[in-house]
Amino acid sequence: MSLRFQALNNLLNNTDVSVESPSKITAIFGENVFTLKTAREYLSDEAFKSLNASIKGSKKIDRAVANQIANGLRAWAEKKGVTHFTHWFQPLTGSTAEKHDSFFTIKSDGNPLEEFDGAALIQQEPDASSFPSGGLRATFEARGYTGWDPSSPVFIMEIGQGKTLCIPTIFVSYTGESLDYKAPLLKAIEAVNKAAVDVCNYFDKNVAKVTPTLGWEQEYFVIDEGLANARPDLVQCGRTVYGASPAKGQQLEDHYFGSIPERVYTFMRDFEQEAYKLGIPLRTRHNEVAPAQFECAPIFEEVNLAVDHNILLMDIMERVARRHKLKVLFHEKPFAGINGSGKHNNWSMATDTGVNLLAPGKTPKTNLMFLTFFVNSIKAVHDYADVLRASIASAGNDFRLGANEAPPAIISVFIGEYLTKVLYDIETRVGDKFDEQDEAILKLDLHRSIPELMLDNTDRNRTSPFAFTGNKFEFRAVGSAANCANAMIALNTIMAETLRTFKQDVDALIEKGEKKEIAIMHIIQKYIVESKKVLFEGDGYSEEWHHEAERRGLPNVPTTPLALDAMITEKAKQLFESNDVYNHIELEARHEIELEKYIKKVQIEGRIMGDLALNHIIPSAIEYMNKLTANINSIKATGLPESACASQMAILKEMTERVQTVYEKVHAMVEARKVVNNMEDTRTKAIAYCSQVKEAFFDDIRYQVDKLEQLINDELWTLPKYREMLLMR
Ligand code: ADP
Ligand code: MG
Repeated sequence: MSLRFQALNNLLNNTDVSVESPSKITAIFGENVFTLKTAREYLSDEAFKSLNASIKGSKKIDRAVANQIANGLRAWAEKKGVTHFTHWFQPLTGSTAEKHDSFFTIKSDGNPLEEFDGAALIQQEPDASSFPSGGLRATFEARGYTGWDPSSPVFIMEIGQGKTLCIPTIFVSYTGESLDYKAPLLKAIEAVNKAAVDVCNYFDKNVAKVTPTLGWEQEYFVIDEGLANARPDLVQCGRTVYGASPAKGQQLEDHYFGSIPERVYTFMRDFEQEAYKLGIPLRTRHNEVAPAQFECAPIFEEVNLAVDHNILLMDIMERVARRHKLKVLFHEKPFAGINGSGKHNNWSMATDTGVNLLAPGKTPKTNLMFLTFFVNSIKAVHDYADVLRASIASAGNDFRLGANEAPPAIISVFIGEYLTKVLYDIETRVGDKFDEQDEAILKLDLHRSIPELMLDNTDRNRTSPFAFTGNKFEFRAVGSAANCANAMIALNTIMAETLRTFKQDVDALIEKGEKKEIAIMHIIQKYIVESKKVLFEGDGYSEEWHHEAERRGLPNVPTTPLALDAMITEKAKQLFESNDVYNHIELEARHEIELEKYIKKVQIEGRIMGDLALNHIIPSAIEYMNKLTANINSIKATGLPESACASQMAILKEMTERVQTVYEKVHAMVEARKVVNNMEDTRTKAIAYCSQVKEAFFDDIRYQVDKLEQLINDELWTLPKYREMLLMR
C-alpha cells in the first residue's frame, strides 16, 4: 500500500492529543526566561548591575563578572532540570543553529564536576565551515565564533528531548565579519537609534534613545503529518511541485475568520503555551484566506527581541506540531492556486520618553515630529526601494510577489486619503510661505483624524507592500519563511541614512538663519516633492499599476537573482558602510550566499520534479494505461464494434501523449540543468536557473502532471491530493 493510503487510513483513526490550558497566561509567562527579575534573584548586586547596564547597551561585561553571571545562570537552569547549554544563533541558512554542550566536565585531578564559566558564556567556536559564508572564510580566517548578546535574554528550551539552556549569540568570523543575521541587525538598530535621537532632539531634548519596534504577523499552513510525509516534494522543498486544484478551493471564502478546526486549535493552544513560557507575547490567532492556512501575531516588541521571538516561535511550532502529528508549512507558496503566506512586519520607532514616533501627535509640536518621521520613512523607501526589495528576495517569495494575492514586486507606499491630502497641502504651499500658515498645518487634528480613518477600514489597502496603518508602517512583502532580520536590517538602515541627511539639510537652513520649525517644514516639503512618486493609493494587484509604476520610473524586479543586484550597487555599499552595518566585503559575501541559496532551491525543486515524474507519476500512468489497454482488448474480443471502447481509447490516447510530454520535458530539463551547472559565475548561474530551468520547464511539466492526476484512477495515484491535504481533518 502506498504511503498515501497508509496516511489516509491513519487519519481515520486519529485521536486528538489533549492539552491543558493554564488558568491564566501570566501564571506561565516568561517562566523559562532568565528575565531581569530572575537575574535579581540569582545574581550578586555587582553582577546584576553589570548585566542590566549591558542590556541597556551601555557597558561591556568583564570576565570576572561574566563568571558570576554564568554561575547564576547555571544555578537557575539546574533548578529547572537543565543539564546542557548551547549558544543559540541565526546563521544565514535561515533557521537557527545550536551545538549542545553539557555542564559536565572532568577536572585535571579526575574529579567529575558540573561547571559553566564566563568564558563558555561569552564565546564559543562552532564548526563554522558548515554554514554559508559567501567565500568570506576562504579569504580571511577559517574560524568563526559565537559571542553572547546580553540584549536578548537567555532561555530554556524544553520541547522534545531534554532541556537546554540557550544563550542568544551573534556569529562572526575571527576577522570580525558578520556570518549571521543578528550582528548586522544590532548594528542597524544602533544606526537608527543615533540618527533618530539627533532628529528627536529638535523637538525634545530629553530623548536619549530611540528603539525600532516590530510586530510580525506569521502566516502558515498546517496539514496532517502523515500526508505531508507521503509527499517527497513537501518533505524536501517545503512546497508541492505538483497537485491539481481541488473542486473546493478558497472560492467559497468560508475559511477566513471561520472556526478553527479542533485538531489545529489544540495544536495552537499547545504551541502558544510553549511560547508564553519563553516570553513570546502572542496575542492573536485566526484562520487565513486559504484552506488550512492560519496566522498568529504577538504584541510588538523591540526589533531585536521580536526577531528572536519570531525565529524561536517558528522552531517551537515545528516541534510542537509533531506531538499532534501535524506538519507546519512556512513556505511562501506551498500550494499552487490558493493563497501563499507572508509575514507582515509592522514597524515603528519608540523613544525612551515613551513616544511612538509614527503616531500622530496631539499638539502642534508633536504633530511636526510625527510628520518628520513619517515623511522621512517615505523618503527612505523611495530612495532605497531596490534595497528593500532585495531584502525580501527569495526563491519562495518569488511565487508570491507579483501574483494576484500578495503585494507586487514594485515597492510603493500607501498612506491613506487623509495623509495624502496633508502632504499635498504641504507640498503645494508656495516656497517660503510657511511663516504665516505653518500654524494651520501644525494644528491639523492628526491624532484624532488618522486613527479614526484607519479604524473604520475604509482607509486600508491590502494590496500595498508598504502601508501606513495609523501608528506604524506595515511592510507586507516579507515572506513567511524569512528571518525578519533581513528586512529589518534594510529598513532601519535606510531610515538611519535618511534621518542623518535630514538633520544635515535642516541644520544647513538653520545656519542660514531660518527658524528651526520653518527649516524643518521646508525640508519636509522638499522630501515630499522628491519622493511622492513612490506613493500609491490604488490597487497594487492591477495591471494598470504595473504600467503606471513603469511610467513613474519605479523599479519592478520580479525575480530574485536580479532583485539581489541591489545589494551590491555603489549606492548600497555607500549606504551600509556609512552606517556601519556592513562593509562592502560582507555585502558581496551576502550577495553570493543569497544567490547560492536560490540556485540550490531551484536545483532541488527541479530534481524533485524529475524524480516524482519518473518514479511516481509515469509508473502510475502506465499501470492505468495497462488496465485501459486490457479492457479495450477484452471488449474488442467480445466482437463489439470499436465504438464500444471509444472513451477508453480517448483516455488512453490523451494519457500516452501527456506521459510522452512529461518524459521528454523532464529529460530536456535535466540537460538544461547540466548546461547551467557548468556556468562559473554565480550570478549568471542563478539567472540561468531562473530562466532556463524554472521558467522554461516547471509550469509546463506541472501542467501535464496535474492533467494526468485528473485522468488516472484515484486508487493508483500515490501522492496525497490537494483536497486531502487541505480539507481533511
Ligand atoms: P491589524 O494590522 O491586523 O489590524 P493591529 O493593528 O492590531 O492588527 O497590529 C498588527 C500588528 O502590529 C501587531 O503584531 C502589533 O503588535 C503590531 N504593532 C502595533 N503597534 C506597533 C508599533 N508601534 N510598532 C510595531 N508594531 C506594532
Ligand atoms: Mg496585517
